[in-house]
Amino acid sequence: EAKAGGRGTVRLFEPQMDETLRERLDLERELREALAQNRFELHYQPLVDLSDNRITGMEALVRWRHPERGLVSPAVFIPLAEETGLIVSIGEWVLGQACRDAAAWPDGISVAVNVSPLQLRHRSFVQSVLGALASSGVKASRLELEITESVLLDDTEMNLETLHTLRKLGVRISMDDFGTGYSSISYLRRFPFDKIKIDRSFVRDCAAQSEAGAIIRAIVSLGASLGITTLVEGVETEPQLATIRAEGAQEVQGYLFSPPRPVHEIAALLEAGAASEGRPARTLAA
Ligand code: C2E
Ligand code: MG
Ligand code: MG
Ligand code: MG
Repeated sequence: EAKAGGRGTVRLFEPQMDETLRERLDLERELREALAQNRFELHYQPLVDLSDNRITGMEALVRWRHPERGLVSPAVFIPLAEETGLIVSIGEWVLGQACRDAAAWPDGISVAVNVSPLQLRHRSFVQSVLGALASSGVKASRLELEITESVLLDDTEMNLETLHTLRKLGVRISMDDFGTGYSSISYLRRFPFDKIKIDRSFVRDCAAQSEAGAIIRAIVSLGASLGITTLVEGVETEPQLATIRAEGAQEVQGYLFSPPRPVHEIAALLEAGAASEGRPARTLAA
């Protein structure tokens, strides 16, 4: 209990905390402004098929173009957007923009969009997916929604129903950051994911440590037995790629192939890939 003054009392707001809170409120206000002023932008990172080294799709990664701070990472503002509920509106914008962008790309290229738990739970989520597809003319089969395990932790029945509805519509569902949450494996029985994205923490040491490689191999084989595609995130080096290839993963994503790039560079990148049959996506890295 906080009482004013006196020895041994607890002060609710240390000066430092006060500052943190103010910063938070500033950030929240700025986030709302950013949404109203269209200050978010999407960057895209290729997903690469290891069987032919070709790009199969692009993951949309949101950034905030801030007048003073420059390009702000989602790691900074997504958590606050989730706490304040702003993620629902930001996520809806991302979905719509990603589909509009994808409409300009070849038919065989899919677009992957990250969906936060709060957004998925929102009652109009299925409608906003349908709206984004209809207004862009992008086929449902080109859209991949990436969710994390935490989505299946609460409101499980409702979330499962939403995911099943989306899947029946032809949208594909990926489990993102696989291996970082709890009971990962049991979730694979409860929902038929199309793709598992193995978190990049397993990649870091996979070339040097046989344990990390063994874990990737186990997830790949689990995925194969369930008919689920496995993608490995965060591939940065050739030795990592060689290990991942040997472990049998189907797809990869990472700086070795390309960092996330602003949308205006994507069409050219896809064209360059298509123009030269069999050209490794790796040579497209910045
Ligand atoms: P994520 O969905 O797991 O996305 C992959 C993150 O790893 C991206 O960070 C990407 O830039 C980074 N990455 C890709 N390749 C490499 C690599 O080789 N090495 C390393 N070290 N990192 C790599 P980013 O763009 O900062 O996004 C961070 C997270 O923010 C995303 O993780 C995702 O959870 C979230 N996020 C991004 N965009 C959205 C969005 O539109 N909606 C929601 N709800 N979350 C988003
Ligand atoms: Mg993702
Ligand atoms: Mg991921
Ligand atoms: Mg990740």
